[in-house]
Amino acid sequence: MKVVSTPRALRREIARLKKGGRTIGFVPTMGFLHDGHLVLVRKAKKDNGAAVVSIFVNPLQFGPREDYGRYPRNLGRDAKLLRSVKTDLLFVPRASTLYPKGSQTRVSVGDLSRPLCGATRPGHFAGVATVVLKLLNLVAPDVLYLGQKDYQQFRVVERMVRDFDLSVKVRMAPIVREADGLAMSSRNVNLSFAERLEARCLYRALKKVKESVLSGERRADRLRDTLRRELGRARGACVDYAEIVDAGTLRRVTRLSKDHKIFAAVAVFFQKTRLIDNFLITV
Ligand code: AMP
Repeated sequence: MKVVSTPRALRREIARLKKGGRTIGFVPTMGFLHDGHLVLVRKAKKDNGAAVVSIFVNPLQFGPREDYGRYPRNLGRDAKLLRSVKTDLLFVPRASTLYPKGSQTRVSVGDLSRPLCGATRPGHFAGVATVVLKLLNLVAPDVLYLGQKDYQQFRVVERMVRDFDLSVKVRMAPIVREADGLAMSSRNVNLSFAERLEARCLYRALKKVKESVLSGERRADRLRDTLRRELGRARGACVDYAEIVDAGTLRRVTRLSKDHKIFAAVAVFFQKTRLIDNFLITV
């Protein structure tokens, strides 16, 4: 696996990979990797000849009071994990490389970036869309791999790709979970032992909602109540949002109809650590 940190070296290595006739699968990450990331890399490698990964904790997508400084980092460990899944190329740019002095262009996606994480993290999706567009320009992959863990991010990026006529396919992979249901996340290491146990409430709440839909509940407010009730049972959990929206538009729904695809999504703080999780449910 080659490791590069400049656009010039990246382009040279990409050209080399393409010359061998291979297509490129790309997985952008913020590092501190876990199985949720590695599933995406394995998929990228399997579907394409070459897997390219980036590790970049993107300052643009963090608010001033968020955890940019506290975000876990361990490049040595990440590189080892990426080698174990046969990654071809790892791109680790510096913030000053991607955003040199004077950089001022930002990508803003419309309605899809406004609710949920967009409502409580202003500017977050503009930061995400901007860095993903830059990375797509640099890597020029055939296929981009994203996780359902960040479903709204997937939808925002998918929209940007369509709106800007980018010639990359966007694929989504399901959420990888710990044995007790907690969605894998780099931020889980910031939980104390007690918080880690309480954090099971996200999965539990979503499962309750799914069971409720399966047993005939069609009133979205009732489902939101179920989410809040279950999350409220966890000690130290401070709910950021607990929503039931249409999986296509991400708009709030009042009643579920037959064949309706809904997105049940939660975001919960344990002290300063913010966790998100979701289920896509077809009625
Ligand atoms: P991050 O490093 O958190 O920015 O995540 C990089 C990519 O990995 C994003 O597309 C995430 O949606 C995806 N990802 C993170 N955690 C998981 C998980 N538990 N299951 C599936 N995909 C994930």
